[in-house]
Amino acid sequence: MNRLSIMEASVRKWDRIIAGKSSDGGVLDCPPCRLFYILVCTGCPIAAYTGKKFCRGSPYGRWYWHQNDDHGYMIKKVYCPECTRLATDMRDFMVEIVEHLKNKEAQKEKK
Ligand SMILES: [Zn+2]
Repeated sequence: MNRLSIMEASVRKWDRIIAGKSSDGGVLDCPPCRLFYILVCTGCPIAAYTGKKFCRGSPYGRWYWHQNDDHGYMIKKVYCPECTRLATDMRDFMVEIVEHLKNKEAQKEKK
């Protein structure tokens, strides 16, 4: 899998969460984490995009803390309209990275 297909898998993951068909297992079911996390979080396309490790600088923190503080269940999924909003932010952020990677690829091909 290349970076682009990993990020496309992330978009699909968040689409399923928004649709209420799936839950967020964090590191365990995050496509880039599964490949890049391994305690140090290096080489992940999200980290490369934000310039920060462990998803800092992405909307993930807001989703995580809302789940923790307002719901507090083991399973992170959509429980209220705020969850939908935050999951949508995360999905849109993944789409933004997909677009960014596609632009980079397109530029490479021009050279
Ligand atoms: Zn909620």
